Amino acid sequence: MQERDASIQSFYEFIKEGKLMGTKCLKCGYINLPPRPICQACGSKDWEWFQFSGKGKLETYTIIHVPPAKFKDLAPYIVGIVKLIEGSSITAIIKSKLDEVKIGLDLIVDYMEYKGEKLLCFKVEESQS
Ligand SMILES: [Zn+2]
Repeated sequence: MQERDASIQSFYEFIKEGKLMGTKCLKCGYINLPPRPICQACGSKDWEWFQFSGKGKLETYTIIHVPPAKFKDLAPYIVGIVKLIEGSSITAIIKSKLDEVKIGLDLIVDYMEYKGEKLLCFKVEESQS
């Protein structure tokens, strides 16, 4: 038995702990993100937790000027689809200046406190050079 079931609730519990988690299929190795109890690729029900490195690239993005009420203090902000190096994609807030964001940016997972909640986001990865 796993400590936590493969659900969105568990996904957000891990986010609170600063972990970006998916489920890895023990049969075919496919990584399901968000976590799923049944592998999206092969239908197997055997899985284990998988922690992502948190590194990825910005695949596409949009700038939100009219956010849901909950996020109105953040606007304008960027929401993007991040292609993780493990191959999965995830949608999240992108911490970048609006005039510096571009497709292909190297990103790394980050977390922000907002109204007492810990939110998943990505920030621009500092270049290593
Ligand atoms: Zn599978």
